[in-house]
Amino acid sequence: MHSTEERRPRLLERTFDRLLLRNTRVAAVEQVSERFRLIALEGDALQGAAWAPGHKLQVKVAGPFTARTFTPIVFDAERGRTRILGYAHGAGPGSDWLRRVRAGDACQVFGPHRSLALGDLAGPVVLHGDETSFGLAAAVAVAMAGGAAPRCVFEVESEAEARLALKALGVEPALVVERRDELRRVQAIGELWSQCSGDGTLFVLTGRAQSIQQARQALKGHGVPSSRILAKAYWAPGKTGMD
Ligand SMILES: Cc1cc2nc3c(=O)[nH]c(=O)nc-3n(C[C@H](O)[C@H](O)[C@H](O)COP(=O)(O)OP(=O)(O)OC[C@H]3O[C@@H](n4cnc5c(N)ncnc54)[C@H](O)[C@@H]3O)c2cc1C
Repeated sequence: MHSTEERRPRLLERTFDRLLLRNTRVAAVEQVSERFRLIALEGDALQGAAWAPGHKLQVKVAGPFTARTFTPIVFDAERGRTRILGYAHGAGPGSDWLRRVRAGDACQVFGPHRSLALGDLAGPVVLHGDETSFGLAAAVAVAMAGGAAPRCVFEVESEAEARLALKALGVEPALVVERRDELRRVQAIGELWSQCSGDGTLFVLTGRAQSIQQARQALKGHGVPSSRILAKAYWAPGKTGMD
């Protein structure tokens, strides 16, 4: 027998889940490298959802109320299918879920919801980010197919692993630097402006909060107006479950 105090949070969770979460099924899991997983989700509940590149999808990775945020690479609202690339960086409920998730598992999601307002992506795009930004880069590349591809600069833990994941997504990066090479990492940020192809270039900064700050300052130092910079922190040391 459960006490009223124990039942109340469960009831609250169930009501929250029923009202706000979409029920999906894990259609496929591809382990692209040691830490990267390409995950396909499907379900009638995804049909008709509004989505654009840059939107986020929150996945319930543990109960209760424990969700982690991912970026759909593609979203087929007609068939109710989407794909995300997850990076199991280390310790955390999101990383744990990525390591244990299997095809056939049930998966509840919240969203998709707007996160980065990328607009029509008609002009040139320069993207700076890390492992957590690969899905976004792939979504942007698909949206820009037929035009100039986005110029992508990534700072990562392991270049070899990152290149495997980027290859699986069909993203050709302009530059990949390892975080441990601090000199090269900061240099890449300092030279980010030179990836642009004209005044209309949109700079999209995602990933680690501190790197975004550095990149924004460097771009401003080179005269890039704030209106041409879009930024969204995907994680920050010491902070959990950013959305
Ligand atoms: C809008 C948005 C879109 C995102 N899209 C994606 C995506 O498509 N794919 C993806 O893999 N991630 C994506 N992320 C990032 C992901 O949600 C975070 O990395 C999340 O914190 C991981 O959850 P966790 O439970 O493993 O770690 P948490 O419990 O959240 O954090 C535990 C510790 O790990 C640190 N940490 C978190 N992420 C990283 C990291 N990447 N590298 C090193 N340390 C880290 C935290 O700072 C904290 O100290 C996105 C985030 C946002 C806000």
